[in-house]
Amino acid sequence: MKNIAILGSSGSIGIQALDIVAKTKDKFKVCGLSVNSNITLLKKQIKQFKPSIVSVATKEDAEKLLIWCRNNKLKIKVVYGIEGLKHVASIKEVDTVLFAVVGFACLEPLLAAIDSGKNVALANKEALVAAGSIIMKKAEQKKVKILPVDSEHSAIFQCIGQEKKKFIKRIILTASGGPFYKYKGNLNNITVEQALAHPTWKMGRKITIDSATLMNKGLEAIEASVLFGIPVDKIDIVIHPQSIIHSMVEFSDGCVMAQMSNPDMRLPIQYALSYPERTDCYIKPLNLTEVAKLEFYKPDFNKFECLKIAYSCAKKGWTMPAVMNAANETAVKYFLGGKITFCDIPKIVKQVTDKHKIIKTKNINKYIEADNKARQDALKIIKQKIGEI
Ligand code: MN
Repeated sequence: MKNIAILGSSGSIGIQALDIVAKTKDKFKVCGLSVNSNITLLKKQIKQFKPSIVSVATKEDAEKLLIWCRNNKLKIKVVYGIEGLKHVASIKEVDTVLFAVVGFACLEPLLAAIDSGKNVALANKEALVAAGSIIMKKAEQKKVKILPVDSEHSAIFQCIGQEKKKFIKRIILTASGGPFYKYKGNLNNITVEQALAHPTWKMGRKITIDSATLMNKGLEAIEASVLFGIPVDKIDIVIHPQSIIHSMVEFSDGCVMAQMSNPDMRLPIQYALSYPERTDCYIKPLNLTEVAKLEFYKPDFNKFECLKIAYSCAKKGWTMPAVMNAANETAVKYFLGGKITFCDIPKIVKQVTDKHKIIKTKNINKYIEADNKARQDALKIIKQKIGEI
């Protein structure tokens, strides 16, 4: 039995993780949960999984939830805010913490989990993109594992297996291509609804937009570079619409390893939680004759400018990926709110990153400052666009 805590239990990854816990009886015990604002779902999860600590965003929600717990005779500690997240991330009896929250904001709780010696199942890519080298270094010092939940990185992790890093020639990151890789019309007319209709993966709103702009793949190239210590120019992207191969690793002798399954996030989540063991399968078994065809295409870096920006920022390194990520998070938020167009996203990210002067530092606070500043810069550009200044 493994003790786990889940940060972001009401999101897409969190819900699927709890589905695995429920199905694989006696494998996992849930000790801690956190949500932002979906208290209704949290209450259901508390009744079903009986965690000892839960965290919510605000003091007000925490107080209300505590009364509800007492009325239901549940002995649960209720915490809140960023301190609450840090608390759930470092519960004494927990072995593995699943980070299923979106955005750079999870950095502090992530560092808290590593500091208290927890293995981390990481579904959050923004923290790794923005402050990857600091996170990986701390994990190494504390001898904890960062287990990727992102399907591509779980695939790469499995393809590498016990091989030595010096034998890795190239990482081939597969991309579904999102809804628009074949789209011939004007990308600027894309509506939020169109961008949210992903062909193969059902995911949260932020990552679905990132998948449509292909920024997601840019973030993932940086994520892979950080996780596996491989420079981005050794990471290639190939569009693979069927999403059966989740990524590949080419070795120095020319051998290419691929990891395959039907697209179902429960597999990488389950593997990160059960590692180094494997648990029984609850996803649809792969039937290759049914799939019949696996296709591969080159991504268009001119059509999807976010890819170009991401590779360029990755090569510049230091605070640049943090700035890129912050500008992108801000732009996506305003696109989802209907305030800016689809093509404004790369434009805003480019303007903010072009302006940024790289800081070569290992001080985490400088990355947080760069992130804050980039969000303000992005917001300024957005407000000018929508005429609120
Ligand atoms: Mn992915």
